Amino acid sequence: MSPDVRRARFRVEGIVQGVGFRPFVYGAARRLGLKGYVLNDSRGVEIVLEGSEDEILNFEKTLTGSPPPRARILKIQKSWEEPEGEKEFSIRESRSLDTTQALISPDIATCPDCLREMLTPGDYREGYPFINCTNCGPRFTITLRIPYDRKNTTMAPFEMCPVCKAQYYDPEDRRFHAQPNACRRCGPLPSLYKSDGTKIETGDPIGFLGKELLAGKSALIKGLGGFHLACDSTDTDAVIRLRSRKRREEKPFAIMAPDLERAESLCDLTDADRDLLTSFIRPVVIAPMKKDSGVSKEVAPGQNTLGIMLPYTPLHHLLMKKVNRPLVMTSGNFSDEPIIYRDDEAREQLAPAVDYLLLHNREIYARCDDSVARTFSDRPYVIRRSRGYAPDPLVLPWKSQKTVLACGGELKNAFCILKDDRAYISQHIGDLKNPETMDAFRHSLNHFKEIFRLSPEAVAYDLHPDYRSTRFALEETGDIPKIGVQHHHAHIVSVLAERGEEGPVIGVSADGTGYGEDGAIWGGEWMTADFKSYKRLLHLKYTPLLGGDRAAWEPWRMALAYLYPLSGELLVDLPLGCVSKITSDNWPVLLKMLKTGVSSPPTSSMGRLFDAVSALLGIRLESHYEAQAAMELEQAAEKITDRSYPFKITGDAFPLQVDPTPAIEAMLWEILKKKPVSEISGVFHNTVALMIKEGCARVREESGLDRVVLSGGVFQNMLLLGLAVRHLEDEGFKVLVHSQVPTNDGGISLGQAVIGAEKLKHAGF
Ligand SMILES: [Zn+2]
Ligand SMILES: [Zn+2]
Ligand SMILES: [Zn+2]
Repeated sequence: MSPDVRRARFRVEGIVQGVGFRPFVYGAARRLGLKGYVLNDSRGVEIVLEGSEDEILNFEKTLTGSPPPRARILKIQKSWEEPEGEKEFSIRESRSLDTTQALISPDIATCPDCLREMLTPGDYREGYPFINCTNCGPRFTITLRIPYDRKNTTMAPFEMCPVCKAQYYDPEDRRFHAQPNACRRCGPLPSLYKSDGTKIETGDPIGFLGKELLAGKSALIKGLGGFHLACDSTDTDAVIRLRSRKRREEKPFAIMAPDLERAESLCDLTDADRDLLTSFIRPVVIAPMKKDSGVSKEVAPGQNTLGIMLPYTPLHHLLMKKVNRPLVMTSGNFSDEPIIYRDDEAREQLAPAVDYLLLHNREIYARCDDSVARTFSDRPYVIRRSRGYAPDPLVLPWKSQKTVLACGGELKNAFCILKDDRAYISQHIGDLKNPETMDAFRHSLNHFKEIFRLSPEAVAYDLHPDYRSTRFALEETGDIPKIGVQHHHAHIVSVLAERGEEGPVIGVSADGTGYGEDGAIWGGEWMTADFKSYKRLLHLKYTPLLGGDRAAWEPWRMALAYLYPLSGELLVDLPLGCVSKITSDNWPVLLKMLKTGVSSPPTSSMGRLFDAVSALLGIRLESHYEAQAAMELEQAAEKITDRSYPFKITGDAFPLQVDPTPAIEAMLWEILKKKPVSEISGVFHNTVALMIKEGCARVREESGLDRVVLSGGVFQNMLLLGLAVRHLEDEGFKVLVHSQVPTNDGGISLGQAVIGAEKLKHAGF
């Protein structure tokens, strides 16, 4: 052995498995004439190199400078050792270690190389709907446990044919150690059924289905993380039929466009939208719909935006090529239940809703909905963080001393497990009120614990005693410390954590609901906050939630609650839709509730204020899905920045109260004078943005803080968000908003986990 030979060991952590990392290392090492080996273990990747010091350092440069496109290196440790006389460079069998930091990659959209091969006549995998390689394909949704090897995925039953095997073992090949590698001869295959279960004998099930979809038929299509319901989005009758069968009367459907060019013809896209649409994550992107899009109005009734995505599996690409028009591709589930992901469930529950079922025989292990995002200020603004994002952790700039499980909220649930500097946020789980969703929660939690080998040492939960996530935390997590976290505090800290910032800051939570420490329902809150605690300095003035929880679905109730202090019993004579809809026999009960507050707990909810105004303007008196009234109010608005309605900030001691009653009164007059709804809605949005700014100015006077964090479900309203940021920045505030984590309750588990970790630290655990 030459005396110049040196030996180095690299330990690489991050997303380094299932993303073509070992072939990359193999190629780089061989090019530099280095000997040694690379292997996957449960912590990541280990590389041992022997050769000249210069070449080893060159290798390190390549490793850090140009890793494979899908890899995400979080940490590299290098150590020098005594040379052992390695003769060649090889890829060794994976090794399982006890402690783990290995990360499973999210599922990755079909890469350009695979797409080209699939569409090339005569290619070995021409037209094969499950083509993939180390740069693309299913990952998280097929992985049962780590290390990420074929035997630990739902590809285990498929024995590779000689051709696939040769590629799999050829370090020069793009499919070298691609775990889901397959072809028509050895891999999963699609099959088409009628809704009654009869198999359709055809050599081209995708082509067959494509023709039927063009003829107005509907289908259930098995995808990556669950089933989609599909039909031609330009065919109004087909969309109406699907809608009625899905029992989803008005909620917007997502669309899959054949390609970016077609997506451009449907929506007005920004560069940031285009980047997001074509990213390997491929979320549903919500963007303004073009007037002449050709998409049926029934796809997104009452909306002027459309949720669009591009094909992200080879099967989608083949189908979209066949139909060459935008398809409805909506989650295969009933209203708030979790997306269906097993063949038997699909056959039993969804088959009657469609004409055809396009199935395949690769099992989905982890259910995972499509992610949904918008863009704000040229950055992604994720609304539902799921496929393509999960289970990728967020990396924080500090470490937690304990592993903390945070159970999240009740609606749009996602949990989070914080360990060291990694926050593992689950895929979107949904509304925990359904027993099916609670089962999905448990399944997903066990999956995360398994694939990341996490065992929580403490649990954080929302203060709402009736949330299923709270009950789970208190009843099903064993004898570990349990930390209650206020809902809106969690929203604010979630932004801080994802942006890598720390408090104290001014936090504004504009939200639909959230259990308050005084027993009221909070949701329009101005506070100072850091990781450990918060102080409530202002809130939207309490208004009775007329009839309790029903008010969230019947916005007319909130309109009455806001009108009553202005009109008293004259309310019954106001010429408004939200008043005239009430029959005379219902008035005595309603007036009694308004007068005495019976069955009407006080709320400071900003979401309910938007509901009230939506009903007041006659836009939406009853909602059929969450936040429908507020969404339609936003859609109706023109952007107005130079006019606002009056409001008051009252009180002698903190918390002060922000009283929108003068604004309601001004709106009432304008409605009676028949001002256009679009203008009133626009002025109202501007007024709320000014309320937010004015409240922050009061907090700044008191605290000296000038950084503002905006969070809560109401900030899904992009018009309000834009106006609030603008007014705050004009006033000299630095504003932080979400990007990768949802501003709705899908984001609170991150805040809960961080607050939980901090409280534990201070409690001396
Ligand atoms: Zn590929
Ligand atoms: Zn094969
Ligand atoms: Zn919330």
